Amino acid sequence: MNIDLHCHSNLSDGTLSPKELIDLAVQREVDVLAITDHDSIACYQEIDLLTDRIKIITGIEFSTTWRNSGIHIVGLNMDLQNHDLLEGTRRQSAARTERAQKIGQKLQKLGFSDCFEGAQRHSGGGQIGRPHFAQHLIDIGAVSTMQQAFKRYLGAGKAGDIKEQWADLGEVISWIRGAGGIAVLAHPTKYNMTRTKLCALLEEFASLGGEAMEVISGSQTASVTQSMARLCQQFNLLASCGSDFHSLGQPWAALGMAPKLPANCVPVWTRWQ
Ligand code: AMP
Ligand code: MN
Ligand code: MN
Ligand code: MN
Repeated sequence: MNIDLHCHSNLSDGTLSPKELIDLAVQREVDVLAITDHDSIACYQEIDLLTDRIKIITGIEFSTTWRNSGIHIVGLNMDLQNHDLLEGTRRQSAARTERAQKIGQKLQKLGFSDCFEGAQRHSGGGQIGRPHFAQHLIDIGAVSTMQQAFKRYLGAGKAGDIKEQWADLGEVISWIRGAGGIAVLAHPTKYNMTRTKLCALLEEFASLGGEAMEVISGSQTASVTQSMARLCQQFNLLASCGSDFHSLGQPWAALGMAPKLPANCVPVWTRWQ
């Protein structure tokens, strides 16, 4: 089975529409797909959940903070009509817009003009994220690559890294669980945490009702996979896998092409099969 439970449409910071994303997944012979836009479930208004071309699992990627680190929690297999979940996504969405205005002001102080408007244009009416600011900074010649934009202005500890507006970890997990879904710690290796800190995060995540972690996130080495599988077992979590696909031309996050879960993990899909 080819299973991809983490990817983005153009309703957050991806480039394909939800329909194009599904077409690509079908073309790549993905059997099960979850679209996990940042703080949004709007993509599900544009697609047929019951299509027989592919099995779709509902998904979202919530932003939160833990001990001052920006953390992402994927929610899978939720009832999208659930009141608290809908209210939660509304709150996070409003927080995103407010944050974008603040990022715009911070960048203005550094001498870059019209950043909020530029980012908003790049977001195409979906959730505004830091990659949209990065694109604007490239447009105006302030940087030459996305990577550079994050390194100088938007990444951890930089002017555009504003994260105090997000709901806290426990709240985000409770929205997902309340809607009958499974909370998954996204891409654990991307937080640049020491093993000790990552273990503390996993312990708290599990104690708050988190049930799974991404053992596979995009292309990764076999040794990273083994290391994540060990953590997954240690904290008695289910294992998830996804590409974190955003757009074509990023081979490290290619839709439907991530490595398979190792055999010593209990897959998250055992919960809905
Ligand atoms: P936001 O959701 O607004 O906090 O932005 C986070 C998103 O920015 C992530 O989901 C990635 O898509 C992207 N991102 C994070 N770090 C980098 C980076 N160093 N280079 C390019 N894109 C990044
Ligand atoms: Mn993203
Ligand atoms: Mn993420
Ligand atoms: Mn993601």
